[in-house]
Amino acid sequence: MKIGIVGSGIVGRLMAWHLCQRNHEIYIFTKGSTQSEDACSSVAAGMISPFAELPLLPLMWHKIGLTALKWWPKILATLPRHVHCRNQGTLVICPPRQKDLLQHYIAQIKHKLPDLSIPILSESELQKIEPALCGMIGCYLLDAQISPTELFEAMNDYFSSQQVTWYPFQQVHTITATKIISDKGYYEFDKTFDCRGMGAKNDIPTLRGVRGEIIFCHAPQVDLLHAIRLLHPRFPCYIVPQENKKFAIGASQIESESNATITMQSAVELMSQALQVHPGFHDSNMIQMQAACRPTMPNHLPFSQLQAGVIMLNGMFRHGFMLAPALTFQLIEKWIDNDD
Ligand SMILES: Cc1cc2nc3c(=O)[nH]c(=O)nc-3n(C[C@H](O)[C@H](O)[C@H](O)COP(=O)(O)OP(=O)(O)OC[C@H]3O[C@@H](n4cnc5c(N)ncnc54)[C@H](O)[C@@H]3O)c2cc1C
Repeated sequence: MKIGIVGSGIVGRLMAWHLCQRNHEIYIFTKGSTQSEDACSSVAAGMISPFAELPLLPLMWHKIGLTALKWWPKILATLPRHVHCRNQGTLVICPPRQKDLLQHYIAQIKHKLPDLSIPILSESELQKIEPALCGMIGCYLLDAQISPTELFEAMNDYFSSQQVTWYPFQQVHTITATKIISDKGYYEFDKTFDCRGMGAKNDIPTLRGVRGEIIFCHAPQVDLLHAIRLLHPRFPCYIVPQENKKFAIGASQIESESNATITMQSAVELMSQALQVHPGFHDSNMIQMQAACRPTMPNHLPFSQLQAGVIMLNGMFRHGFMLAPALTFQLIEKWIDNDD
């Protein structure tokens, strides 16, 4: 089938990947370039965290996240170049004086998974797993992280090898079951997908943006092996080791649809939290500070529909990388495979 996909964030790309695997003819439309630098997905830390995000999620979505964890190695194995992906897990930490926060966090997970054992690790137990951490207690959760930048580069190479056609710098204004119309032209397809994230706001009145800000730095003196989540009553933060001593330090969660650059306040908060975790960040060099709006529904859960013949997936909030591999597969199985 000839299939048109609008949007080249993580949702549009994973739709395209699953459809390429089924030998469909794929056309991707995007507002920006083929690098998708305008997409919210390009700003993400790439955590795939069905356990660490469980306090925020109904159990069903945790299970979809576990399925997605299994999808990622299969996806990466098809890509023509290496993508940095770690599955060492996440350490959720706090200073011992804030032990209540950690107990509450674990209680929220155990409320949903009563049989999961999550022991609180003392400072010395924590240091056996992550020697660089000082003055912290914590717990270990099984999670993974992927580098969105490397992933998108490798996916572009894969799409080239599959003869996927790109329509970059196209502002699409109409999507019907068989047509995509942009400021540059009119195109016909057998099926269409709407993966526009916040770009679909006018068509989904309840979709809102939740602003997130993140810092990327190069920190040769930071020797963290795991992703770290620092619990804090006001400014929780995470630190994700990426390729070549690059670290993502994120992320704010602000009820705002502003796409303006990071505020001084958020930058100071994120940096001071990172310094609390590892003093080596003092000598790190800033690579980028970014901000984007997470496409979010009122219940903070993904939203999919087949309406007037257009297949849509949106509302990924904090969980695009964590849920999209499995959700895109489910939608394609339901609405494309069964229609062949
Ligand atoms: C700071 C931050 C950190 C995050 N960290 C994580 C994380 O660690 N793990 C995780 O799972 N999630 C994370 N997220 C959330 C994740 O980034 C989002 O859930 C995800 O990016 C949503 O993907 P999407 O494809 O729906 O939207 P987007 O990535 O925004 O993609 C939308 C695409 O649609 C295109 N488009 C829109 N309108 C039009 C139009 N009219 N015409 C043509 N093209 C159009 C855009 O050009 C873009 O390519 C994070 C988010 C932020 C902000």
